[in-house]
Amino acid sequence: MNILVINCGSSSLKYQLINMDGEELLAKGLVERIGIEGSRVKHTTIGKDEVIIEEPMKDHKRALELVLNALVDSNHGAIKSMDEIQAVGHRVVHGGEKFANSVIIDDEVMDAIRECIELAPLHNPPNIMGIEACRELMEDTPMVAVFDTAFHQTIPEDNYIYPLPYELYEKYGIRKYGFHGTSHKYVSQRAAEILGKPIEELNIVTCHLGNGASVCAVQGGKSIDTSMGFTPLEGLAMGTRSGDVDPAVIPFIMEKEGLTFDEVNDLLNKKSGVLGVSGLSSDFRDLEEAAADGNKRALLALKIFCNRVKKYIGAYAALMCNIDVLVFTAGIGENSPAVREHICEGLECINIKLDKELNQVRGKEAILNKDLTSTAILVIPTNEELMIARETLELVKK
Ligand code: ADP
Repeated sequence: MNILVINCGSSSLKYQLINMDGEELLAKGLVERIGIEGSRVKHTTIGKDEVIIEEPMKDHKRALELVLNALVDSNHGAIKSMDEIQAVGHRVVHGGEKFANSVIIDDEVMDAIRECIELAPLHNPPNIMGIEACRELMEDTPMVAVFDTAFHQTIPEDNYIYPLPYELYEKYGIRKYGFHGTSHKYVSQRAAEILGKPIEELNIVTCHLGNGASVCAVQGGKSIDTSMGFTPLEGLAMGTRSGDVDPAVIPFIMEKEGLTFDEVNDLLNKKSGVLGVSGLSSDFRDLEEAAADGNKRALLALKIFCNRVKKYIGAYAALMCNIDVLVFTAGIGENSPAVREHICEGLECINIKLDKELNQVRGKEAILNKDLTSTAILVIPTNEELMIARETLELVKK
């Protein structure tokens, strides 16, 4: 069975076509600048050269039409006809409290996803546009929604309720939701597979460290806490997001700097994190290079980032009594031995012992320590698309 996985942003559409007999990637691509001048599809069928299709695309429906054309193209396509796509899996950022699992999409589900727009005003609308475009163009193909928040719906209430007036939770749903759920789920399952142990018996901490970053405590295969919260702003210091700060800082800077709500939101989401501290870049490659050249603020930004991750690992060790497995994933987690080393430095006290030589690995699955009596430390490239395809397959088969 071939499954098309779709991930829509406000002006972008990422896709992968996966043959689930053997979980083989057939084609992948990215549409950029939808609704903006200069829109294009970058399409690659595995084993063939990348093609770039430059054409105006006024909306996601037109973008999807061009993607489907590319997939069935006689030269650069991967399949002969649309009939060879048996199901579509959609990434949806926010499922609120309504969705603790992936679901087959119908009108009722669409209404429920729309009701979650309030919780994710930037993310859910483009996800919905992608689903609507697919439902128009592939009327008879079953579709599944896979939510970033669903994996975290197992978090117990003493970890998800904020110490605010309880009525705010009841009235507006203000609570921790958590994000990157599909990634945390994939790498925790894969970690158990690699170690050949039942996930039910493992306490795992997964560190998804990319532009957005979050840590998750996975006990017996279930998320019991995560660092992101009501929005993806809470928790770790990130590329451009502040993560945890004293909430009193916010009204203070609004007053001192004369900022509006939108402006302070922008400051916390786009001008903070390692970019804000370093004043240089949100990209860890730039920061590592600058720090090596003696740039103090780049070094400080890296230290703050690593310290935050370390503190969450410590917190989750306390929450679960011990950590059997520590996983690093996403752009930084997969590719930066230096960041992994700094995070693990000093964690020997909780049995986390990184082997510096084994740690010199980038972008592939690896075990970073030999001592089997201590916490297993793993690098696992995340694969959210495959996880979405698996969940889609499971529901469609039923
Ligand atoms: P996103 O959250 O946008 O999906 P990614 O998971 O792709 O992000 O991570 C992107 C980040 O990964 C980049 O900003 C960069 O900081 C980091 N990164 C990628 N390659 C390396 C590398 N070789 N060394 C250090 N950091 C890297």
